[in-house]
Amino acid sequence: MVALSKAQESRQVTRLASVRPALAAAYQLALGQWLANPTLAALGRPFVSEGHRSVAAQDELYTHGRTAPGPVVTYKRGGESHHNQWPSWALDVAVLLPDGTTSWSVGLLEKFARLMKAADARVRWGGDWPKFQDAPHFEMTG
Ligand SMILES: [Zn+2]
Repeated sequence: MVALSKAQESRQVTRLASVRPALAAAYQLALGQWLANPTLAALGRPFVSEGHRSVAAQDELYTHGRTAPGPVVTYKRGGESHHNQWPSWALDVAVLLPDGTTSWSVGLLEKFARLMKAADARVRWGGDWPKFQDAPHFEMTG
């Protein structure tokens, strides 16, 4: 079973504390179900890669694929993303694999999304969006 380091665990606490309590609770429930399922747990360990994002960090992200190199990763400018709310209305999830690398595999995230949506019907998954699918992204706006 894949475990987070103490430093990684401590960052999880900080990131989850930056997220709306109901969304953080849905995440904790989904994570608990994932870890209790030996088949899923063997695939890797989901973790929150980002909760709240500052307006400045959002503006920086917006430059990616525009004035900065790399692919476009967001269509939201600073202040427009649900990550910019305090507490954040969105969180991003990645999966720590058994070999120690981080995965953003849509297949893995889709499995986690099923648990998130089952945990709270208000959860919306970025992988379900018709355009610009954002598989790591989960939000709760209602
Ligand atoms: Zn996101």
